[in-house]
Amino acid sequence: MNYEASLDFARSLDDQDPLRNFRNRFHIPKKDGNEVAYFCGNSLGLQPKEASARINQELKDWAELGVDGHFDAKTPWYSYHEMLSAPLATLVGAKTTEVVAMNTLTVNLHLLLTSFYNPTPDKYKILTEFNPFPSDWFALESQAKIKGYDSKTALVEMMPEDGEYTVSTDAILSKIEELKDELALIMFGGVNYYTGQCYDMQAIAAAARANNITVGFDLAHGIGNVKMNLHDWDVDFAVWCSYKYLNSFSGGVGGVFINEKHFENPQIVRMEGWWGHNKESRFKMEKGFDPIPTSEGWQLSNAPVFSMAAHKAALDIFEEAGMEALCEKRDKLTGYLEFVILNAGQGLEIITPSDIDQRGCQLSILTGENGKAIHDGLGKAGVVTDWRHPNVIRAAPVPLYNSYEDVYRFGEVLREFSG
Ligand SMILES: *Cc1c(COP(=O)(O)O)cnc(C)c1O
Repeated sequence: MNYEASLDFARSLDDQDPLRNFRNRFHIPKKDGNEVAYFCGNSLGLQPKEASARINQELKDWAELGVDGHFDAKTPWYSYHEMLSAPLATLVGAKTTEVVAMNTLTVNLHLLLTSFYNPTPDKYKILTEFNPFPSDWFALESQAKIKGYDSKTALVEMMPEDGEYTVSTDAILSKIEELKDELALIMFGGVNYYTGQCYDMQAIAAAARANNITVGFDLAHGIGNVKMNLHDWDVDFAVWCSYKYLNSFSGGVGGVFINEKHFENPQIVRMEGWWGHNKESRFKMEKGFDPIPTSEGWQLSNAPVFSMAAHKAALDIFEEAGMEALCEKRDKLTGYLEFVILNAGQGLEIITPSDIDQRGCQLSILTGENGKAIHDGLGKAGVVTDWRHPNVIRAAPVPLYNSYEDVYRFGEVLREFSG
């Protein structure tokens, strides 16, 4: 596509955008009375306007029904999580039974590593992505320790070539080949939080399968951003949070994917809790854990309904818009951001791959010495991005609520820095 750095051009793309009305479904923060251009949906997604009605409904049911709300609320709390499974399954490409909303991301990572990281003295290593989110690294290290292994040798980080930030699929596959007899687990992000690189999850999963290695993905930056087919790719498990692209609020309920082949596998142990117990007999309050034979069998506690209410409001919007249309807009909008950054004459380098199959909507911009000043200048002008020490600005034009005009504004601020 041929882009132009003009307001008319940006507005004409907005006029033709079939998803343009979805922006009105969100509260857009304001600065000095004007809507900001919000590029931090990869960090905290915006609030769907429908969220407050959903949460208020639960407050009302609680006020009016007390304990009876478990079964008599408009949406009974007892089974509240069940309605989230189908839309989540669509987003990750899974069967409804393979997906459940529960807990938060790092907690879920620990729960699933308990089940799926099964090291032996010969085969105990974990191959992980380059520069993983620290919480993932901490979880992996501590799981190695819990299982009696030296975390220093257990974790293998997939380093890029010197001077590079991203890693080719070929390099990852060669690494797997090299370490295949020592790897108990391959645990990658779907999309790296820092570089915005989208890994070839299908190829990684296939290599894992071929070598009898368990494979899991952290989809914090993948879900709601890129299309996936976890079931068909034969991934073992995945975890995610809901407050980034899924717009379901800070600390909101996360989710997991567990491949159905593991539901009744007696070799797989888990952390057990009453919410994972057979629904028919749960309230008999007897001993003897009888797991629900789906991903729901990994649940521990009764569900956080307020957080699920906000989640439901957000997932409804995804269902309406559809990932197909969102991805189409994502590529155009991100392409436009790439154009305005490179066109602004700042000599900025984008470390996110330019290949649209290897990225979602985030672009990570490597800045020079004036990087922090550029970031702060963007903020002053009402263009919200985030700063990653020491020199990266991350910007995510989100197809649900960002406009081409937002991207144009980004470029105009950058241009001011050309002096
Ligand atoms: C955002 C993010 C987290 C945060 O974890 P929480 O448990 O939700 O606080 C962890 N890992 C990755 C890859 C992330 O992007």
